[in-house]
Amino acid sequence: MNSPTADSVDTLIFPRWIIPVAPAGQVLEQHALAIKGGRIEALLPAQQARRLRAERVVELPDHALLPGLVNAHGHAAMTLLRGYADDVPLHTWLQEHIWPAEGRFVGEDFVRDGVSLAIAEMLRSGVTTFADMYFFPDIAAQVAQDAGMRAQMHFPVFDFPSAWGRDADDYIHKGLQLRDDFKHSSLITIGFGPHAPYTVSDGPMSRVATLAAELDASIQIHVHETRQEVEQALRDTGERPLARLHRLGLLGPRTQCVHATELDAADIELLAQNNSHVVHCPESNLKLASGFCPVGKLLEAGVNVALGTDGAASNNDLDLFGELRTAALLAKAVAGDASALPAHAALAMATLSGARALGLEERIGSLEPGKAADVIAVDLGDVESQPLYHPVSQLVYGNSGSRVSHSWIGGRLLLENRAPTTINLHELRERARHWQHRIANG
Ligand SMILES: [Zn+2]
Repeated sequence: MNSPTADSVDTLIFPRWIIPVAPAGQVLEQHALAIKGGRIEALLPAQQARRLRAERVVELPDHALLPGLVNAHGHAAMTLLRGYADDVPLHTWLQEHIWPAEGRFVGEDFVRDGVSLAIAEMLRSGVTTFADMYFFPDIAAQVAQDAGMRAQMHFPVFDFPSAWGRDADDYIHKGLQLRDDFKHSSLITIGFGPHAPYTVSDGPMSRVATLAAELDASIQIHVHETRQEVEQALRDTGERPLARLHRLGLLGPRTQCVHATELDAADIELLAQNNSHVVHCPESNLKLASGFCPVGKLLEAGVNVALGTDGAASNNDLDLFGELRTAALLAKAVAGDASALPAHAALAMATLSGARALGLEERIGSLEPGKAADVIAVDLGDVESQPLYHPVSQLVYGNSGSRVSHSWIGGRLLLENRAPTTINLHELRERARHWQHRIANG
């Protein structure tokens, strides 16, 4: 809490509750949030705020105001493959369904429409920042920037060719160019996305490690997603994938390890020692029967754990509130302890921990003066939320994604009463139907 330094601000929001996430556990009532120049100017008593001049005043009497959620892992364009292949294990799903469909259809138009669809869905369910790894990250970054969405694009690196690149060198070359193109963007950051240990060989993997360290860039990689992945690596090389990444210099404080379901004590120790982050994607792991990320043990070891939806093809939605609820429930079931991952800690995982994993902790993830005004409002006034004893419990365990009413990113209003201000939903539905028709008819 603080006082504004100016007597006029751009936007003043008067909600029922403010949940700033930092300080941890705080719930403010009778308070307002002031935005100026795209940043949070102050959280202050409502009475005091009423005396300020503001260009725009937003009254949200039944709403909770909180930091926008950070979806720390996904493949946004894959919304166009939502529900395309379900109920098969990861290996079959990738090799017999997803990779062949991608081979046929992925291109600039696919990515443009798929990412637009993903952004609309994420905005309408409370996400204000998403981290992504997919082909044509140049198109995805531009779509996000044009929509006013904050994003961290990890350009893909594989040993083999795709519609976007010929080989590892080509992916890295294009990715570095992309970093250059967006170096002045306030919304978009570009990192390295070596897909997984089993799709990138040692040479390019060490090159990614060296370049990322030089450029202070983030690295995102799928790793230890399933027990089979770890067992196969042990059979082939005698080395666990995380140990190999460590040997190649890839584990560090900028590294985001996605999934991490199959971890032994030494793996957890490696992650902790290197200050690497884990991105937990519980619904994708459940749906593909990939395993359970040992969230409790990771947190105990001091590893930062963020939360991601993964792509819509394996989830099948991008609702991070839903993911948050699943993460909280699953943590309790896996630990056999109902006090594991309580509501406030779960909400922190979907906000501040996500920001930390993305290296954006100084800029986003909590409602603190000086941070970018990435703010969402959730309407808790409907009958399904009554009575309401604890707003944070309601946010975490209730159906909150569909109740997100407003969203600001960098102080700009992007969602007003559930209507996106920069995306035409009618056009978007038409484009999605067009793709459905094309993809279904092969
Ligand atoms: Zn993924």
